Amino acid sequence: MAEKNRVIGFDMGGTKMLAVVLDEKYEPCGQAKVRTPVGAGNKETLEAIVSLIHEALDEADAKTKQLAAIGIAVPGPIDREAGRVISMPNVDMQDYALRDKLEEAIGVPVVLENDVNAGTYGEFVAGAAKDAENVIGVFPGTGVGGGIIIDGTLYRGRTGSAGEVGHMIVDAGGWRCGCGKYGCLEAVASKTAIAKDLVHLAMKGQSPTVLEKAGTDIAKIKSKLIRQAMEAGEKPVVEVVERAAWYLGVGLGSLVDIFDPDLVIVGGGLVEKLGDLYLKPVEKSMRAHSMIDSDVGLVAASLGDDSVIVGSAALAWREQE
Ligand SMILES: [Zn+2]
Repeated sequence: MAEKNRVIGFDMGGTKMLAVVLDEKYEPCGQAKVRTPVGAGNKETLEAIVSLIHEALDEADAKTKQLAAIGIAVPGPIDREAGRVISMPNVDMQDYALRDKLEEAIGVPVVLENDVNAGTYGEFVAGAAKDAENVIGVFPGTGVGGGIIIDGTLYRGRTGSAGEVGHMIVDAGGWRCGCGKYGCLEAVASKTAIAKDLVHLAMKGQSPTVLEKAGTDIAKIKSKLIRQAMEAGEKPVVEVVERAAWYLGVGLGSLVDIFDPDLVIVGGGLVEKLGDLYLKPVEKSMRAHSMIDSDVGLVAASLGDDSVIVGSAALAWREQE
């Protein structure tokens, strides 16, 4: 029998799906990418996943029998034990036994994981948190995702849903969150929350940069545009970003007190585009809001989108050992 020396990391995103074949060192050997099918339903989406995996194997010049496992990361809640996708806001798959169906189709063990948990684990395996044992990962973007690693193991909780730091309440009775609660971290610190405030500024003529480049279209307010407005010296924009950063620090301060981690990593588009303009106020607020005298480091994630691929692959492979 051929040696099982390859693993697949699969990132099922809301706009694109990416399959990467990796070797034992989690170095990529070949990949394939496709737009996530819209309105396809469970079965057709599965078919798209299967053919993308075969395409990636071809690109890597690898055979199915070389695969130790497939790790698939999905952007939504899962039932880990049952290997089921519960729902995904941006992918047309619901209440579906993805793990078993995919195992059946390819004949290789499949491990299903939430994408932010996978991303945090990827940073732990090969990125910014490589030398840490206890890690809090937080990824502010459209929402605020998170992952928790304790003693070198991804903490999943009873159902596999642990690590939802974005739904920690930091402003009880505050803004309504997408999840239905009020005052979640996500409702005040996500990129969406920032963009919502920037639309107001644009309407009031307080951010000429945002008004010129995005008008009042919230979808057009990307992290890069936020940076441009800050660099143009638009003070109200700086205030909005620093307020969101402050809130993120409020949440992180509590997490530091609860977990006493070795390292906190912050990833996602805001961090990649804004860098210290964002991270410094987050760090200041985190330290102001933590009680224990921790000198815990706060660093930017380093793998970008690759973290999900590496993390899902590593989780899948390590589960076979
Ligand atoms: Zn929430």
